[in-house]
Amino acid sequence: MKFGGTSVEDPAAIGRTAAIVAGRVALGKQPVVVVSAMAKVTDQLLRAAAAAAAGDRTGALAISSRLRCRHRDTAVALVKNPTDLAALLQFIDGKFDSLDEVLRGLAAILELTPRISDLIVSFGERISSKIVTAAFREQGIDAAHVDAREVIITDSQFQKAVPQDAPIEKRAAEKLKPLTDAKQVPVMGGFIASNEAGITTTLGRGGSDFTGALVGGAMSAESIEIWTDVDGIMTSDPRVCPDALRVKVISFEEAAELAYFGAKVLHPATILPAVKKNIPVLVLNSRNAACEGTRITSLAPPCKSPFKSIAVKKKLSIIDVVASRMLMTHGYMKSIFDIFDKHQCPVDMVSTSEVSVSLTVDSNDKLPAIAADLGKLADVKYEGRKALVCMVGDDIRGRSGMAAQVFTAIKHVNVRMISQGASEINMSFMIDEDDADEAVRSLHAAFFQDPDPAIFDVEARKAVVSEQ
Ligand code: ADP
Ligand code: ASP
Ligand code: MG
Repeated sequence: MKFGGTSVEDPAAIGRTAAIVAGRVALGKQPVVVVSAMAKVTDQLLRAAAAAAAGDRTGALAISSRLRCRHRDTAVALVKNPTDLAALLQFIDGKFDSLDEVLRGLAAILELTPRISDLIVSFGERISSKIVTAAFREQGIDAAHVDAREVIITDSQFQKAVPQDAPIEKRAAEKLKPLTDAKQVPVMGGFIASNEAGITTTLGRGGSDFTGALVGGAMSAESIEIWTDVDGIMTSDPRVCPDALRVKVISFEEAAELAYFGAKVLHPATILPAVKKNIPVLVLNSRNAACEGTRITSLAPPCKSPFKSIAVKKKLSIIDVVASRMLMTHGYMKSIFDIFDKHQCPVDMVSTSEVSVSLTVDSNDKLPAIAADLGKLADVKYEGRKALVCMVGDDIRGRSGMAAQVFTAIKHVNVRMISQGASEINMSFMIDEDDADEAVRSLHAAFFQDPDPAIFDVEARKAVVSEQ
C-alpha cells in the first residue's frame, strides 16, 4: 500500500491513512506500507538546497526551520504516549540538525551536486515514514519502521537511480518478510534508496509509486495499491478538466503510456515490476476510501469508446534538423541520435520528411549544447514551451476516422507534430503549451460525451447532473 504526499500531508490525512491500513489488517491482509514525504516537502527541500547553493544560508535555514515546525506539530498532534512522542521529537530534531549541517556546508561550498541533492530530499521520506509509523502504533497497528535505503538498492545515477532487482528481492526477504510473517506492518519511505555502497539515491520525482511497485513485486504481493488524492485514473487530469470520469479498469500497457506521457497520477516506471509478476495495481483515493478506484490489469476488457484517457506532458521542446543533402545518406539518422545519446537526452517523438527531422525532448537545459553539436551536421532550430497531448485507448488503429475526429475537435489549434505509428494504443501530437489545457477540454468534450458504462464511472457524472 503506497500513500502519496497528500495522504500524509497533515494529522487528519495520516489518521485516514491509519484507518485504511487498519481496515486491511482487520481483513487478515498483511500489508507493507510505503509513504511519500508530506505534501510539498520535497519541493521545499529542493528550494532550500537551491538557496544554500546560491549562498543564501539564512533563506535555506528558514525553510528548514519551517519544515521542522510542521513535522514536530504533526507528531505532537498524532502521538499521545509521552515516551513515544519524546523519542519521535528527538528523532525529528536529530534529522533537521543534520539537514541544517548539510545546508550550511552547501552555503559554504556553493555547489549542489546530484548526490547532495538526493541526500537533502531524502529527509522528507525518512521523517514522514517515522511519523506515520508512530501514528499507526498509536492507532493500535503493530507497525515497524524500515529504512527504505536498506531495501531499495539502485545503481549510482543520483536523482534517477535505476533499481537492481536481485538485491531488492534479497533485502525484501531479509528485512520485510520476517516482519509480515510476524504479522507486523512494515512502514518505509518511498522514493529514497541507496547504491551498493550505502550512499543515498532517489528514484526520480514521483518515485514513491515506483517504490511501492518494487516492494509489491519483490514480495510477490496479491496487489499493489497506490493511494492518492483522486478517485483513480481519470479520463484526464481533473485539475484541467473538472468533468473527468474515473476509469474503472485499464490495461498495464495503456496505464504505462498515460504515465509516460504526463498523467502524474502514476510514476511511469510503476507498472514494470507489476507486469513482470502479473500483480494487479489499484489506484485508490485516501479521501474517499469507499470508491473502488481504478484497476490496472494485464488485459484491457473490450471498450466501446475509442479512448480511455487524455494525458498532457508540458515543458517540452521541439528541435528541427534540416539538411537537404544529407537525409538519405547512410548513417545520417544514427549520427543525429548519437548526439542525443552523448548528451544522455531521451527523445519522445520523431518525425521525418524529405529534408528534415523533427524531434521532441523534455530537457530544456541540455538543448543549447545539443543544438551546437547538431549544428555541425545540419541547420538546427529549436523552440520551447511545447506540450504533447497523448490520447490512449486500445485498438485506435483498428477504428477508422479517429484522426479526423481528433483533429476536428481541436481545429482551432496549431498542431506541430503528429504520431500514431508506433503504438496501437496511443495517438499523440505536439502543440503550444498555452493551447494545451483548452485542447484537452475540447477533446474530452468530444470523446467522453457518451462513455461506455462498463469502463467508466458514469454514475458519478449522473449524480453531479442531478445535484445541479
Ligand atoms: P501523490 O502525491 O499521491 O503521488 P500526485 O500528485 O503525484 O499524487 O498524483 C495525483 C494527481 O495526478 C491528481 O491530483 C491529478 O491532479 C493528477 N493527474 C494527472 N492526470 C491524471 C489522470 N489522468 N487521472 C487522475 N489524476 C491525474
Ligand atoms: N516525495 C517525492 C516527490 O515529491 C516522491 C513522491 O512523492 O512520489 O517527488
Ligand atoms: Mg505521485
